[in-house]
Amino acid sequence: MARFDVLSDKALRRDPLTRDELLGVLGSDDDALMDLVAAAARPRLRAFGRTVKLNYLVNLKSGLCPEDCTYCSQRLGSTADVVTYTWLKPDRTAEAVRAGVEAGAARVCLVASGRGPTDRDVDRLRPAIEGIKADHPGVEVCACLGLLSEGQAERLRASGVDAYNHNLNTSGERYADICTTHTFDDRVETVGKAKAAGLSPCSGLIAGMGEGDGDIADALLALRGLEPDSVPVNFLIPFEGTPLAGRWDLDPRRCLRILAAARLVFPDTEVRLAAGREVHLRGMQSTALYLANSIFLGDYLTSEGQPGRADLEMIRDAGFTVLGSEEEDERGDGDRERPELVRPRHRGAGTALPPNA
Ligand code: SF4
Repeated sequence: MARFDVLSDKALRRDPLTRDELLGVLGSDDDALMDLVAAAARPRLRAFGRTVKLNYLVNLKSGLCPEDCTYCSQRLGSTADVVTYTWLKPDRTAEAVRAGVEAGAARVCLVASGRGPTDRDVDRLRPAIEGIKADHPGVEVCACLGLLSEGQAERLRASGVDAYNHNLNTSGERYADICTTHTFDDRVETVGKAKAAGLSPCSGLIAGMGEGDGDIADALLALRGLEPDSVPVNFLIPFEGTPLAGRWDLDPRRCLRILAAARLVFPDTEVRLAAGREVHLRGMQSTALYLANSIFLGDYLTSEGQPGRADLEMIRDAGFTVLGSEEEDERGDGDRERPELVRPRHRGAGTALPPNA
């Protein structure tokens, strides 16, 4: 049996992979990449079939954060060219949510920059959450507001919030290298508070910040200890104006290995392909759908993603269906006619125009 099939068999039995096994996955070579993807795709396909869950981000409050997370364009001292604004008005929030839901999002993620919400912030969210629940029954609402104080998770749950996102981002050992204004343990604690209050825990990592394979493995193992329901895998977007500008450590094959490791650690947990997929996976994005069963649709918090239509085409072209729209996708391929893609050549050989080379 091929070496990666041994690992996917373990994952399918819910027999936890060891740190050394994860290091073997992360350190594997390009010749073995498709074997790895095929092996790690097995638990993904068994748990989620060929569905892809769509999530839609709404940045409720952007920029001007007092924390110093080095990877973040909204951090203290950031000179990144990002939009900054305080809390979105409820009607603008509703408008943004509607756009995501109409495009097929099953979950909306309401995010705000900052160390954590005040009690007043938690209260201010209630009408927006109640409005979303009334307008879009069945759509999950996830909040991502930073570190939670006592009682806030319970109040969010009472407002109708379904899930709470707070990423561990990297290994505990390396956390102080990427942030000095709060700790790894602070983050673990907030995920625990969310979970204890009945919020579905969502916590993941960011790759590409100068970490080694051991840090990725340790971050995945720490995440496994939190028993999250969803695990976003982000790839660093190295914004100019942040300390990690110029860090281009990732390539599409490494991203696939990281996603495969995440899938083998979380065989039947939602693994979400998150920020940076267009930047680092590029032409391999659709291959990543064999590992992740969930993506963000369209734009991210402070950077633009590929157009939502391109995401939907990518999903369909790869033979997957958007979760919740399976019946619609079974109608057939009639709308795949794309005559605009057939363009007669009027440049290069035999013409006065330079070739497309
Ligand atoms: S990640 Fe969150 S807490 Fe850290 S700087 Fe960015 S907005 Fe602030």
